[in-house]
Amino acid sequence: MELETMYRSLGICPQVLDFAKKTEDSLKDRFEAIDRRAEYNQLKVIKAMQDNRVSDIHFAATTGYGYNDLGRDTLESVYASVFRAESALVRPQLISGTHALHVALSGNLRPGDELLSPNGKPYDTLEEVIGIRESPGSLKEYGVTYRQVDLLPDGTFDLDGIAKAINEKTKLMTIQRSKGYAARPTFSVEQIGEVIRLAKKIKPDLICMVDNCYGEFVETTEPVEAGADMAVGSLIKNPGGGLAPIGGYIVGRKDCVDRASFRLSAPGLGKEVGASLGLNQSLYQGLFLSPTVVAGALKGAVFAANIYEKLGFSVVPDSREERHDIIQAITFGTPEGVIAFCQGIQAAAPVDSFVTPEPWDMPGYDSPVIMAAGAFVQGSSIELSADAPIKPPYAVYFQGGLTWYHAKLGILMSLQKLLDAGTIKIL
Ligand SMILES: *Cc1c(COP(=O)(O)O)cnc(C)c1O
Repeated sequence: MELETMYRSLGICPQVLDFAKKTEDSLKDRFEAIDRRAEYNQLKVIKAMQDNRVSDIHFAATTGYGYNDLGRDTLESVYASVFRAESALVRPQLISGTHALHVALSGNLRPGDELLSPNGKPYDTLEEVIGIRESPGSLKEYGVTYRQVDLLPDGTFDLDGIAKAINEKTKLMTIQRSKGYAARPTFSVEQIGEVIRLAKKIKPDLICMVDNCYGEFVETTEPVEAGADMAVGSLIKNPGGGLAPIGGYIVGRKDCVDRASFRLSAPGLGKEVGASLGLNQSLYQGLFLSPTVVAGALKGAVFAANIYEKLGFSVVPDSREERHDIIQAITFGTPEGVIAFCQGIQAAAPVDSFVTPEPWDMPGYDSPVIMAAGAFVQGSSIELSADAPIKPPYAVYFQGGLTWYHAKLGILMSLQKLLDAGTIKIL
């Protein structure tokens, strides 16, 4: 068959293809459910664009102060509609997820306030933002204290512990939806809603913020609908649809978003300034594509979980679990396994397929790290990418894929590399 010939020309042997086909055939129902959610989310985005009368005038560039940037303001209204929020801040001046989270936190916390994390240690880069690891400019330096409540051994919220931790100083609770690179389950929007309801019962004016990175469009509802006052994320992950070259968003209650905007620009300026520099079209079009892009990435994650579980490796989430983010972890148990996997992902890329990733000592990490990414946008992790610290248990975290076919090729290529290295036996 022609398709087989094409796969062969890319270096995939018939044995790998056959093994993959059996797995893919067993996933029809899963894929159909993913497609149905994507269909709903696609309509949600189109409806939001129609309701806000998006027009090609909104794609025009502004420069300088960016006063009266109609495209920027309308894009923010579209985001507010999609996320069912009162207000939104969606800017190329928010340079990453970490920056957006920092702006949301520092805009809404004041000296003497306490920040609470109900899911234990937050994402790595937030440790320095909060001051868990000493860092110049951290919230800690500004007199904001921090408290965390670890998850229970089964990965669920410790509701009693959270209730006890909330005190007169607690101003903001930050909930991380995705497990990120931690070994715990990702929370569903419903679970997030439960912890918010509990916290607000104890302290009605507590600001509840959700780090929504990697979670957008995986379900049909988003955190604001579950009671969050703010949800925050990166445009080079899910909602940028692979087209946004930079950016972050903060959606939620108007007063919270406004306070964040005064931190991003300056007190007195807020949302009124910030030129969009000609990036608007990519941000609109990326949001438009995002539901189907996320669906492709999810299919890749489910496919990989099924493939590698069959081969005897431990996978999180497992082959059957419901998904709440796009990240897949696979534990290989050996450095060779991790390295071969990442080299396979790299070899399948449209960009830089000819380079061979190797582990290196990255600043800020306590062991060598290997990263595979052949991305159009630097660091974009909605594009197919994988990374792993070279230390036990030798787990690789992989995510993304702008299309299902690319995600599939990446996984087939990883299988091929593992087979060639003698790490796995398929037959
Ligand atoms: C990626 C991510 C961040 C940080 O985003 P960057 O764009 O890498 O700065 C924060 N939280 C979670 C859960 C993430 O996945």
